[in-house]
Amino acid sequence: MKRLGGGKQVLGIAVHVLAFLLAALLLWHMFSSFAPVVPSEEHLYVYVLDVGQSDAVLLRSGTHTLLIDTGTATEERALRRALARYGIEHIDYLVLTHPHEDHVGNARYIVENLSVGTVLLPSVGSEDYAYSLFLAAVAQSASVLTATAGQHFALGNAKVEVLSAGTATSDKDGDVNDASVVLRVCFGTQVFLFMGDAEAATESALISAYGSEKLDCDFLKVGHHGSSTSTSVPFLLATTPTVAAISCGKQNAYGFPHAPTLENLAAVGAYVYRTDESGTLVFGTNGQEIRLIPPKMKGLSL
Ligand SMILES: [Zn+2]
Repeated sequence: MKRLGGGKQVLGIAVHVLAFLLAALLLWHMFSSFAPVVPSEEHLYVYVLDVGQSDAVLLRSGTHTLLIDTGTATEERALRRALARYGIEHIDYLVLTHPHEDHVGNARYIVENLSVGTVLLPSVGSEDYAYSLFLAAVAQSASVLTATAGQHFALGNAKVEVLSAGTATSDKDGDVNDASVVLRVCFGTQVFLFMGDAEAATESALISAYGSEKLDCDFLKVGHHGSSTSTSVPFLLATTPTVAAISCGKQNAYGFPHAPTLENLAAVGAYVYRTDESGTLVFGTNGQEIRLIPPKMKGLSL
């Protein structure tokens, strides 16, 4: 009788130990899959963050970080969680393409909660109160420059150049969009263009200023959330992207991306990826080719 009781006790302990080990394994798996991974400088990663109907794009190579726009204020939680997930506590360069709320809505949050090296502001201003609070905050926490065409800086092994930073002739939305800071990022043989909300007038000016040799790209962050007022046919013929990424909200009120934009992108053979369909998009390049990183591998090496 004693022996039997002892056997049950041993069995009971064994079951408890096994349950504990399984729970520990499950917890390790859950947390390890969220552990931030610092990518190597041999790769450049582009994260088109899912911030609803707004815009925020993170670039990183090794420990070097560049954030283009910050999304709309109502998406602060999404931005915060994405940056935490990728272990981002410092931004080397924050570039604000233009002062519309869907691009600068969390700019104040960024400069007040992360360390920021240099901020590139658009030359066009804004009367918006929240933007004025951001300007007051940024003056105390980062070095601030006004973007001008021709500026360039290094992001690890990537070369970043401002192609356009226009001035708006009015405060009409189209004019402010066309004042967007446009960035060209070069990593190895791969060229990335980030358009902000620049529209056809800016695209035309870019073609005149640079020609297709400089504008030819592998990756296009499509202008103005896929609006048909951007991504004109002449611009697509000059840029011929292989990969195109569109940031827009699910069933957004503007109908972005517009059908003509998608048709024109398909006509030049670009693979189109959309945040409204796929959530945050992560692309990686080794300098030779660009790959979409599968969701489960976000933040990991190619
Ligand atoms: Zn926008």
